[in-house]
Amino acid sequence: MEGLRFACVPGCTNCCNARGFVYLTEADLQRAAAFVGLSAGEFEARYVYRTRRRLRLRKPRGSQCHFLESGGCRIHPAKPTQCRLFPFWPELVENRKAWATAARNCPGIGAGPLVQIGSAVEIASEMRTAYPGMYDG
Ligand code: SF4
Ligand code: SF4
Repeated sequence: MEGLRFACVPGCTNCCNARGFVYLTEADLQRAAAFVGLSAGEFEARYVYRTRRRLRLRKPRGSQCHFLESGGCRIHPAKPTQCRLFPFWPELVENRKAWATAARNCPGIGAGPLVQIGSAVEIASEMRTAYPGMYDG
């Protein structure tokens, strides 16, 4: 692969509606809490499920995310790292087949400017830093 094309499509919320978990870093938690005007503790109690190793957003009944609204993400400027970096995730940028599969649900994949593969891998490396343990082994 020389590069990957991507440009998020305004109005699309497909990735937010896809089944899966949204993981947060501690910094994501602080940022999102401040954005909605809550303390980190209040935000965590309301929206976050903490395990021994990870933090993830709780899911409301009948939806994938508390912050998904018809107009898009309610915390867009402070959304978690994995949301901000999608689709530049290691498992997608390093695997042509996985990238093509993701494109079935993401109309932005394959559109927009060409991102050199080295740049895409570099962007994706933030995922490895942000979520230690998730990409080990
Ligand atoms: S936090 Fe925002 S961007 Fe992330 S899944 Fe929820 S609505 Fe989508
Ligand atoms: S599915 Fe793709 S185009 Fe749609 S909101 Fe997510 S990143 Fe943007």
